[in-house]
Amino acid sequence: MKEFPCERCGACCRNLDKNDVYNDLNRGDGICKYFDEVTRLCSLYATRPDKCNVKKGYQYFKEVVTFTEYIKCNLKSCEELKRGSNSCQYHFY
Ligand code: SF4
Ligand code: SF4
Repeated sequence: MKEFPCERCGACCRNLDKNDVYNDLNRGDGICKYFDEVTRLCSLYATRPDKCNVKKGYQYFKEVVTFTEYIKCNLKSCEELKRGSNSCQYHFY
């Protein structure tokens, strides 16, 4: 897989309150302080933290899940986040 098939919907960056690991980025309402609400893109995308990068984030889960399952779980999480929930234990959000 070259790149995670992100649709750039911004749902993950607008739901940081679903996981305490993102408290440092949360501006207080669940939305990331680096999220550009006009473009719906990350304003520091090239240098975003590893926890915001699906491929790099795998390093934290590689002992417990295969890469294929991890990606599948993250894709499921994207769909759930768009609907306001998240049940994937291998996704940070
Ligand atoms: S929720 Fe998924 S598809 Fe939407 S911006 Fe985040 S990673 Fe991309
Ligand atoms: S740093 Fe960027 S990718 Fe990470 S949550 Fe904020 S806006 Fe999203």
